[in-house]
Amino acid sequence: MKYRLMDVLACPECKGFPLELIVLSERELEGVEAPEGFRCEEFCGLERKFVKELEAEPNCKACFAREVVEGILYCPSCGRWFPIIDELPRLFPDRIREEIMKKEELAFLREHANELPAKITQEGRPYNLSST
Ligand SMILES: [Zn+2]
Ligand SMILES: [Zn+2]
Repeated sequence: MKYRLMDVLACPECKGFPLELIVLSERELEGVEAPEGFRCEEFCGLERKFVKELEAEPNCKACFAREVVEGILYCPSCGRWFPIIDELPRLFPDRIREEIMKKEELAFLREHANELPAKITQEGRPYNLSST
């Protein structure tokens, strides 16, 4: 998932924005650049700040060229967490997660438990490691 997406992703359940990004691993993309004149509009994923709070123009060359391989998107508004696995953010609603993804997502959480805050591992919604 490119850092660029932090400018547009919102929580699928409560529409909270921006989401909080926790990076577990990432890589640089060779030869990838933002289109000429492109600029993130509201939120800079690299700086974790709103664009209007930045002291300079956002570095969108970098936000296009950095790919999060594994990580977590956390919604501070409702306490939900969403995994980024194999570079793909999985922003699905609770119903689908409970039915199809729960086992895999909890395994991902367990695998990275010591790299993540308790608000996710112990209190994160829709499920966490204390509820299993
Ligand atoms: Zn940008
Ligand atoms: Zn939310």
